[in-house]
Amino acid sequence: APRLFWFRDDLRLDDNPGLVAACEGKAPLVLLYVLDDSEDGTRRLGGAARWWLHGSLGSLSRDLAALGQTLIIRRGPARDVVRDIVAETGVRRAFWNRRYAFAGDLDSDIAADLEKAGCATETFSANLLFEPDAVRSGKGEPFRVYSAYWRAAQRTGEIRNPVTPPKALPPPLPDLSGEPLDALALLPTDPDWAGGLRDAWQPGESDASERLESFLADRVAAYAKRRDFPADPATSKLSPHLRFGEISPVRIWHATADMREAQKFRSELGWRDFAWHALAQAPDMARTNLRDEFDGFPWAAPDEEILRAWQMGRTGYPIVDAGMRQLWQTGWMHNRVRMVVASFLTKHLLIDWRHGEQWFWDTLVDADPANNPFGWQWVAGSGFDAQPYFRIFNPVLQGQKFDPDGAYVRAFVPEIGDLPDRDIHKPWEASPMELKAAGIELGVDYPTPIVDHREARERSLEAYQEMRQAD
Ligand code: FAD
Repeated sequence: APRLFWFRDDLRLDDNPGLVAACEGKAPLVLLYVLDDSEDGTRRLGGAARWWLHGSLGSLSRDLAALGQTLIIRRGPARDVVRDIVAETGVRRAFWNRRYAFAGDLDSDIAADLEKAGCATETFSANLLFEPDAVRSGKGEPFRVYSAYWRAAQRTGEIRNPVTPPKALPPPLPDLSGEPLDALALLPTDPDWAGGLRDAWQPGESDASERLESFLADRVAAYAKRRDFPADPATSKLSPHLRFGEISPVRIWHATADMREAQKFRSELGWRDFAWHALAQAPDMARTNLRDEFDGFPWAAPDEEILRAWQMGRTGYPIVDAGMRQLWQTGWMHNRVRMVVASFLTKHLLIDWRHGEQWFWDTLVDADPANNPFGWQWVAGSGFDAQPYFRIFNPVLQGQKFDPDGAYVRAFVPEIGDLPDRDIHKPWEASPMELKAAGIELGVDYPTPIVDHREARERSLEAYQEMRQAD
């Protein structure tokens, strides 16, 4: 009988344990991808992630075609699609790599359906270094503090060895068809906002491994020192590739095994695992505060105009605006700046972190069900092991410290590019002569600050006190 391998967030051939297991033997193999936009268990992908997925599925289809196979793409609630394809093809063994939290629950339901229909399922660990349930305290509890989590994770034992890609694949089932990739309509059309994404990225497994190689050859040594400077190409930019599973963290872990200088970089992969460890404990993390004292936080009444100014990079704070424009133009933002813009939204503007999380979800190519809400709650103060709410980033000082010569701001906020370095992070302090020389009229060519830093800081500290007193 034919077998089935179901691709999800593991769009790769390398280090794909479920795929390798499905390839044993000579039985024909059905390779399936399901685009599920229903509310049945996973979160509907945002716009930038849909753009990425299109490229990634295209790349995977080509890689499979070169091995004589076909990726069958279907659309609909995954539970129905998988059940139907198993009935249609007579598959008796189905394989996939495990997902967690809400997606893991959906998968358990699907496995139960298939078992009832006489199809056995086998699942594998593939997309994390440590699966969420594998790391527990001495008392058997999950962790809420990263350092304790990471120590315990490393004590649990060896990380599995990566598996090499299958050299040959069993044949496809003749006559089985799916939908053409274009029918999924994952790309924007009118307007086509994806030009900046196309310039910045190439989705797919081969680019993921090239990116890793060049990072390890040229940049990993300086990573710990330079990773906070957004103008430097110091980080790996592997996040969208990891998000869609075009490269496995286990492959990266082993590729850096003998590199002492990769310690810091590896611990970031640990944060990725920890975010999944948190999501497994709190599947509703994108909507619900991990610390419930924040349920009573007095967020400001929603103001579309202010939210829009943040989204479009028109707050008048250059480091914030540069970050938001980098996101809008390229689908990605540097980690340091993600923290600054998230702090600005939740503290300076007192806007509920969920609005920011949702905007990132729609605009990031690496929008991740665990990392994104985890990052937002970390900054907002409502998360596990979070930054305390009362630590409020000063956007001017953050800019001066991490973008000292203004190169990052100049790349994304060119209209103030001719200001001297001294003023680049606070154009409102430039003298009339400097503004004139730089060709800027503040409030016309570039906004005056949407809030005053000192007042905003006080207002948010008061809001925090109000929450504390109510608690
Ligand atoms: P590198 O520094 O090269 O790190 C390597 C990999 O480690 C990353 O690709 C990523 O998978 C993981 N990683 C690094 N930093 C973190 C972190 N702080 N938390 C969890 N994993 C990390 N990351 C996402 O992948 N998707 C998101 O949707 C996302 N949303 C975020 C939202 C906010 C508000 C914040 C503060 C952070 C968010 N992050 C998110 C984490 C981090 O900003 C990105 O993973 C990182 O900037 C990606 O760039 P890189 O691949 O060059 O990272």
